[in-house]
Amino acid sequence: MGGHGILLFSLSSLLGIEASTQRLLPGLISSHREPLGGHMLSSFCSKENLFALKNTAELHVPPPPQYYSGLIKDIETLGWNKVEFVDPAFSIIRLKAEDSCSRNHLITLKLNPKYPTEPPECLVDLPVQFSASWNPESSLLSIHSQFLAALESLKEFWNALDEIDEKTWVLEPEKPTRSATMRRIAIGNNVSVNIEVDPRHPTMLPECYFLGADHVVNPLKIKLNSNIHLWDPEISLLQNLKEVLEIDFPSREALQKSDFSMDCGICYAYRLDGAIPNQVCDDARCGQPFHEACLYEWLRGLPSSRQSFNVIFGECPYCNKQITLKLSKKV
Ligand SMILES: [Zn+2]
Ligand SMILES: [Zn+2]
Repeated sequence: MGGHGILLFSLSSLLGIEASTQRLLPGLISSHREPLGGHMLSSFCSKENLFALKNTAELHVPPPPQYYSGLIKDIETLGWNKVEFVDPAFSIIRLKAEDSCSRNHLITLKLNPKYPTEPPECLVDLPVQFSASWNPESSLLSIHSQFLAALESLKEFWNALDEIDEKTWVLEPEKPTRSATMRRIAIGNNVSVNIEVDPRHPTMLPECYFLGADHVVNPLKIKLNSNIHLWDPEISLLQNLKEVLEIDFPSREALQKSDFSMDCGICYAYRLDGAIPNQVCDDARCGQPFHEACLYEWLRGLPSSRQSFNVIFGECPYCNKQITLKLSKKV
């Protein structure tokens, strides 16, 4: 921390800012605008403090007084209502932005003491890279409007995924972030499809990967291949998936009412070290899901099981019919 820390701590205590009073910041700043102008700051910087600052200046360059006054001016131009968070040191600022579909987004800016000569670091939750163009005359307002433009360019992508999140049962991710391009959607008892949506072409056919027993998954693959010409970029992603696969995705409520089982038949859990049960018994009447690691341990313990390269053959612990485990990686 060094001198940097001393200056920042003192400045925030000067302003009476506590981390827990962030929401009061706008008022505090307006009523304390004078101290930021410079003269109180220089009277605060006593000889001892300046000496301390000088000694650590090589390690951490403290922001000059105009850093704060410039930043406050920047925030006032943008509007305090767009500020979600400011740390007491004024080095981290989080801004709010609402896209034209009323979705709320955040952008976190990490400012360095040379702001605005040097650009802030931007942290965003977007499925694509965000790099704001910057010159020394740029301000928070210009970053904010570039962020809004980036949000608009992803509108279709979020429309497509919001519809899926709302109308189907998304098994993974459990709480999708705005940058998440993947969804695993439940289709029926122990059957699901994994889709990977291209954020730049959200209504195009996504990469699809089916999970489930062969007798259910194979007909879906055949339908996808033979109906692919029906794909219409003018209609929604979900509608296209329904029409091409000739299925109706069940809602979470409907599936939970039936005896939809997702838990592993060996450890009785859904999540095991972050993994979900992705192996299914091939027998149509059984269809029991298992974790790859659990099934591997089970089959390895069976005297009757045999392995050929990365495939292990044995019996299902539930129905005793043959089950094959294709190892995806070393377990
Ligand atoms: Zn398990
Ligand atoms: Zn079985």
